[in-house]
Amino acid sequence: MSDLPMIPAAKPIIGEEERAAVDRVMRSGMVAQGPEVAAFEAEFAEQLVGGRTCVAVNSGTSGLHLGLLAAGIGAGDEVIVPSFTFAATANAVALTGARPVFADISADTFNLDPASVAEAVTEATAAVMPVHLYGHPADMDGLGQVAAEHGLALFEDAAQAHGATYHGAPVGSFGVFGMFSLYPTKNMTSGEGGMVACADEEIARGVRLLRNQGMERQYANEVVGLNNRMTDIHAAIGRVQLTKVAGWTETRRANAAWLDEALGDVVVVPPVRQGCTHVYHQYTVRIAGATGAERDEVVRALREEHKVGCGVYYPTPNHELVSLARFAPERELPETARAAAEVISLPVHPSLSQGDLERIAAAVHAVVGAGS
Ligand SMILES: *Cc1c(COP(=O)(O)O)cnc(C)c1O
Repeated sequence: MSDLPMIPAAKPIIGEEERAAVDRVMRSGMVAQGPEVAAFEAEFAEQLVGGRTCVAVNSGTSGLHLGLLAAGIGAGDEVIVPSFTFAATANAVALTGARPVFADISADTFNLDPASVAEAVTEATAAVMPVHLYGHPADMDGLGQVAAEHGLALFEDAAQAHGATYHGAPVGSFGVFGMFSLYPTKNMTSGEGGMVACADEEIARGVRLLRNQGMERQYANEVVGLNNRMTDIHAAIGRVQLTKVAGWTETRRANAAWLDEALGDVVVVPPVRQGCTHVYHQYTVRIAGATGAERDEVVRALREEHKVGCGVYYPTPNHELVSLARFAPERELPETARAAAEVISLPVHPSLSQGDLERIAAAVHAVVGAGS
């Protein structure tokens, strides 16, 4: 089997139109933030977040950072986040001077568990920031209720969830702000980039000021800010991708439905909660009861023996990372620990062929089925 081509775990799709768009901007001679960024913001708003004002920045992490700062988060505040996510979620909180407080997840969706969030609330809690992990919406009703009870702001890390909906409304349209990443492996890309969907004009203005040295008018700096601007080159790529992402999402869903059927007898396939649409940034299964080492052996065999690219998102809970361990909670996060040991993300991206899907299913049966 070693002569088989590797099925990549993820594959950004960059076509002729993206290349032509970059060329058009390059030839214009104006490449920094300008009209392409403004058009991208307007089109993204219209297509993905129900018309909310959007502000483009140079990465998803910058989007979280500036969204938090614009919302007034800083030293002395606590923001409740999941530990089972990419480190950018908690990093952005810590960089404002606030304290990330880690809560546990629900076993089915891998997303923040409102009951665990409620337990983590203290006098200092200012906000809760769920992640719509893997493209499945977080429990916005449950979290909204906890936030309302305790007077907390709600923010959304929608880095992985372009187009996912919760009871008919798009993710990114619930929080004070919602951030989408445009990194190449995400469901759509601008090369690098982030988009901040804002609940009101005040937050949007805050993010705009912070991304541009605190200036609305040149050299009339109003606040201390950064340079986190998106370039017109990146926006031009993003605008083209925006015209394709809905079709790609349909293909991701169809691939996931096929894998659900094919794999449900050997692994725990990702459930979709009622009222939610999942956009399958990742197709993440559980090897129920596995230790981290047993799961790692499955990953190794899939990659090396069957040439099926796959990933573990995320093997180490954030509160166990060297960088974030000082924020480790006193209480245990048992579902976080279990997920970190059991999960494997299989390829689900829109470039997969029917033959690839069949190879993935056969490989999982061979590797996991053999051991069970
Ligand atoms: C990718 C990602 C980010 C950060 O986005 P970048 O564009 O890479 O900075 C933040 N949160 C989550 C959950 C992500 O997956």
